[in-house]
Amino acid sequence: MNQLPDSVDAVVIGAGLAGLAAARQIKSRGRSVIVIEAQDGVGGRVRTDKVDGFLLDRGFQVLLTAYPELKTQIDVAALDLKMFSSGALVIRNGKASVVTDPFREPRRAIATVFAPIGSLTDKLRIAALRWRVMHSDATKILNSTDISTVVALRGLGFSSKMIDRFFRPLFGGIQLDPDLRTSRRMFEIIFKSLSEGQSALPTNGMSAVPEQMAKHLGSENIFLNTRVISVERGIVSTANSQVRAKAIVVATDQPASSELLKTDEIASRVAGCVYFAADEPPTHEKFVVLDGTGRGPVLNAAVLSNIAPSYAPPGQHLIVAALPGVINGDLEEMSRDQLRTWWGPQVDAWRHIKTYRITHAGPVQLPPFNPKQKVSLGDGLFVCGDHRDTGSIQGALYSGRRCGEAVTASLA
Ligand SMILES: Cc1cc2nc3c(=O)[nH]c(=O)nc-3n(C[C@H](O)[C@H](O)[C@H](O)COP(=O)(O)OP(=O)(O)OC[C@H]3O[C@@H](n4cnc5c(N)ncnc54)[C@H](O)[C@@H]3O)c2cc1C
Repeated sequence: MNQLPDSVDAVVIGAGLAGLAAARQIKSRGRSVIVIEAQDGVGGRVRTDKVDGFLLDRGFQVLLTAYPELKTQIDVAALDLKMFSSGALVIRNGKASVVTDPFREPRRAIATVFAPIGSLTDKLRIAALRWRVMHSDATKILNSTDISTVVALRGLGFSSKMIDRFFRPLFGGIQLDPDLRTSRRMFEIIFKSLSEGQSALPTNGMSAVPEQMAKHLGSENIFLNTRVISVERGIVSTANSQVRAKAIVVATDQPASSELLKTDEIASRVAGCVYFAADEPPTHEKFVVLDGTGRGPVLNAAVLSNIAPSYAPPGQHLIVAALPGVINGDLEEMSRDQLRTWWGPQVDAWRHIKTYRITHAGPVQLPPFNPKQKVSLGDGLFVCGDHRDTGSIQGALYSGRRCGEAVTASLA
């Protein structure tokens, strides 16, 4: 392991998306910066394991191409994105129904209208909501009156059927919040991103995003397997060394941030995720597959190798089952029990590859939710991460960038 330098302009603690974005911003202004990371690789919550030729993202994640920060911080073309079909396949009572965006998938508009997922009025309300969020800017959405997602959906007139069969599995899955208690502001931002762009997977796995960012920083500036144990004015301490810095950025996840900065901890959302290998895919569709009962514990699933064939070795298929809010118990058995009701006995022949139990998948962001919290704490101390903005890839990238800008302004 390389020796930490004695002093630099800035130290960033944490090589997740926020930390990498902050460090890159600082470096681009000609300042010396290092990143100190506790784990053995960059990416934080966005990492991919390679197991027997399968690419396993640590928790089912997707990249929404409409995220504005992707355009400024990421070479999206280099990720060689593979797209999900827009819409979803909703399974209920063993029957699969396609619900798509009729503007993007006119071919399947009729199927959507007749899908037993909510009434025709519900579907018209979705179109109206889509129109409204697409014609509102993000700042306006993030400053609107805040209530929970489920209360907002009821207020918009959606039926319980529509909420349970569509919104709960889709947004409960994306926001890792099966109760839909998350802020309406967050929900509308995600709904806008889904309406304006596509859900995608990088050919080499989600970790391709942070790995690309790390390359710009240079490996000599990133210190892995090194845990920061304390920060005080101008000094960052690890177990066996200290670095002096004019600016210190705490870019860790919220629980670690509250420990280092001695602030109140925000509750965490948890998530379970089970990967299976199969010789034959249960569907050839490229949709995310939703639990149309809304009861879970698997709220959504996907045959990832249909979307990105590189996620599985030739001739094999990779299936992911996502269990937002569930990390205890036999997740593999729970997933098989439920997916058997979707796809029948073929599920028993699938090989279990790996189960993830993620104890901090994201910060709980209930209404009233403040999406843009201050990044400068004074005395050369800065903080960023998804807990300072929206709990998402976009939120982490944005938070890191604006924190990096605040650091460079302070060093000028
Ligand atoms: C299962 C799952 C599914 C998700 N799905 C989506 C999705 O589909 N779309 C989406 O937009 N977002 C999704 N997210 C959220 C998204 O991944 C996160 O919001 C984002 O990656 C957070 O980045 P971050 O940099 O703020 O924090 P992190 O990624 O947590 O990075 C913090 C880093 O700090 C390091 N660290 C902590 N303590 C120390 C210390 N003391 N010393 C040194 N280093 C330390 C950690 O090891 C970590 O690498 C999902 C998250 C999970 C877990």
